[in-house]
Amino acid sequence: MSQDLTNLVYLAAAALFIFALKRLSHPRTALRGNMMGAFGMLLAIAVTLLVAIRDEDISGTGYWLIGIGLSIGLIAGTLLALRVPMTGMPQMVGLLNGFGGGASLLVASSELVSKMPEMREALAAGTISQTIYFFVGSTMAAGVIGAITFFGSLVAAGKLQELKWVPNGNIIPGQQVVNFLLLALIIAGAAWGTYELKMVWIYWIIIILAAVVGVMITTPIGGADMPVVICLLNSYSGLAAAATGFVLNNNGLIIAGSLVGSSGLILCQIMCKAMNRPLTNVLFGKLAPAEGSATADEVYAGKVKSASADEIGMLLETARRVVIVPGYGMAVSQAQHAVRDLASALEARGAEVEYGIHPVAGRMPGHMNVLLAEANIPYDKVKEMDEINPTFEQTDVAIVIGANDVVNPVARTDPKSPIAGMPILDVDKARTVVVVKRSLSPGFAGIPNPLFAADNALMYFGDGKKAILDLVAAIKQAS
Ligand code: NDP
Repeated sequence: MSQDLTNLVYLAAAALFIFALKRLSHPRTALRGNMMGAFGMLLAIAVTLLVAIRDEDISGTGYWLIGIGLSIGLIAGTLLALRVPMTGMPQMVGLLNGFGGGASLLVASSELVSKMPEMREALAAGTISQTIYFFVGSTMAAGVIGAITFFGSLVAAGKLQELKWVPNGNIIPGQQVVNFLLLALIIAGAAWGTYELKMVWIYWIIIILAAVVGVMITTPIGGADMPVVICLLNSYSGLAAAATGFVLNNNGLIIAGSLVGSSGLILCQIMCKAMNRPLTNVLFGKLAPAEGSATADEVYAGKVKSASADEIGMLLETARRVVIVPGYGMAVSQAQHAVRDLASALEARGAEVEYGIHPVAGRMPGHMNVLLAEANIPYDKVKEMDEINPTFEQTDVAIVIGANDVVNPVARTDPKSPIAGMPILDVDKARTVVVVKRSLSPGFAGIPNPLFAADNALMYFGDGKKAILDLVAAIKQAS
């Protein structure tokens, strides 16, 4: 296989990745986009292996190791894809980002160790070339970014899984300052190590420091900001892969890594915009509920009204326009099919039904869109926040199913709140709001929601799926 043909196949793989990204931006084309991306990756792996076989880079044991690695990856990937529930996807995405970073770290480190004797010889003979400096610099970058990504992602996945032993919050006083100092040390160490070229020990020290930074930049981030961090770590895993591409001189890896790096960063920006927070505020801001914010007792005591399925059924009977707002609880209770039945029952009575989706509803970007698409809900009825918000004032009933933070009006009213400034779905502007959830427990951001105590709000307590099926039965009974 000639170098030109190899590069042509990498180019084809890169084109497939780009088309895949384009198609992933809409639920209707996302499945095909995913397939295209996977096929592109298969092409890239196949051509890399063929080139390595042609160049006799793989020994007998090498074949075994590659076989074992591929089998472990195949089995683990298939099991994870089949077993992980929809609610566990963000943790899985977090872990996969981490594995990407970890892989870059391992590959870069092993390249460095294996090329060390050659570099020492060149150093002794005074024949050090720019290529060697470039190789060492790329290795440092791949190792550092890979270590930050791997350890940061493990912490992020643990926090999303709500593992008790994963630290949540600052581990030491002045953590942000320590992080800055450590980063400065890492950059200085990497520059010095690259310049001196005697740096295996420096390399391992900066990798350990990078691992510490990975953990320490992720532990304090919490509340509603985890989605941005997951996107950022995703972007880092791409950067680490691109740097590894330079280490290995592999064009496919450079292109794929750059695409992941840039798309992760763009997604990060979109999420920050959706939450109305600059990235620096997400990374270095304080996220605990601010002192002086109202407690749950102050917000709810004596003000929350709950209703029965029959009462809500009667209300819905006369509604002309209904907007359904799903959130994380719909995913937990897998209520999407019941929600479609509810919409069909309302439409059969002549009501207009639309869905309002917040960009960070659920636990991963596009979470709600995926669930609604799974229940065959027509895409043209699923509206984004900017499109649906102006319509709430003409809406008779807004039905909130397992959503909390994304409809919390304190985002507009309390500048000290951890979700202050985040645009929300303005369900409180509808004539009546029906909120379906199991209790008055807070959502991801951990703060009370005055919507539940609003004059125009009715709570229907229960598991999302069962509650919606009760409402469907009540509407059918009323007709
Ligand atoms: P929230 O986390 O704010 O609230 C979810 C609500 O669902 C809870 O209050 C809970 O109340 C209810 N619930 C849980 N289980 C059930 C059930 N079985 N039946 C009915 N209700 C249930 O969700 P939102 O979607 O409103 O907001 C998403 C939050 O997650 C935001 O803060 C966002 O920043 C964050 N996030 C988003 C990510 C993303 O990429 N989209 C990733 C990570 C975090 P109760 O226990 O009383 O039932």
